[in-house]
Amino acid sequence: MIVCRSRAEIEALRAVNQLVGDVLGELCELAVAGVTTLDLDRAAEERVRAAGAVPAFKGYHGFPATICASVNEQVVHGIPSTRPLREGDILSIDMGAVLDGFYGDSAVTVPIGRVSGEADRLLRVTEEALFRGIDAVKPGARVSDIGAAVQAHVEAQGMSVVREFVGHGIGTSLHEEPQIANYGPGGRGPRLAEGMVLAIEPMVNAGRAGVKVLDDGWTAVTRDGSLSAHFEHTVVVTGDGTEILTLTARRAARARELMSAVH
Ligand code: MG
Ligand code: MG
Repeated sequence: MIVCRSRAEIEALRAVNQLVGDVLGELCELAVAGVTTLDLDRAAEERVRAAGAVPAFKGYHGFPATICASVNEQVVHGIPSTRPLREGDILSIDMGAVLDGFYGDSAVTVPIGRVSGEADRLLRVTEEALFRGIDAVKPGARVSDIGAAVQAHVEAQGMSVVREFVGHGIGTSLHEEPQIANYGPGGRGPRLAEGMVLAIEPMVNAGRAGVKVLDDGWTAVTRDGSLSAHFEHTVVVTGDGTEILTLTARRAARARELMSAVH
C-alpha cells in the first residue's frame, strides 16, 4: 500500500527533508581536493545530530556511516574512507536522516575542481533526468511514468540507466512502497495521488548499464569502469504536481532552470 500523508505528516517530512537538503548543500562546499570522504561523513553526522535528528543510513543493514560517498566509477553505497579527493574526481553524496520519526533522503553528485568534459556532461544529464522524472509526478500519473521519463532522456544522450537500484516511497520508514525503477515503459503501476511522498533517484553510467558490488558488500561500481552519477530528491505529490521537499533556497534557482528546460 502507498501511504497518502496528512498535512501534519507532510509538515514533519518537509522539516527533515529540508535538513537533509541543507546538510548536503554544506557538504558540497566542503568537498574539495585534499578532503577525505570520512571528513565529510563526520561533518554530516555532527550537523544532523546538532539539529536533533539521527543519521538514517548508519546501522541500516549494518551500513557504517552517515553518508554514502561514491567516487568516479562507484555508483552508490560507497563507504566513506581516508582517500583524499583529487581534482577531477566526481563524488556522489547520498544522505538520509530521521527527525521525530519521519525520514528524509537526497543525493547529489559534485565535481571536485575541474573535471573532464565527459564527467561534466554526465552530471548535467543525470540531474536533468531527475527533473524529467519529477516533472512526470502528478495526481493520476502512473509510477512507471517516472522511470520512462528518466530513461528516455538518459538514453537520448547515449548514456545508461542503472537497473539494480530504484527510488522509493518514504515516510515513517526509509524505504516504503512503491519501488520506482528508473526505466520504462510508462503507463504501468499504481496511480499517484496527492499526499504520496517519493524519493526519486536516477543513477546514470557514462558507459554501459552493468554494475557489480565490491567485496565490502556495499560499494556498487560500474562493470566497465565508466563514470557514474546519482541525483535524488524527495518530493510530495500535490493537488496539481509536486513539491520538492529536499530543495533548499541555495539550489532553488538551479531547480527552476532545470524545470523550465523540461518544458
Ligand atoms: Mg538516498
Ligand atoms: Mg533513496
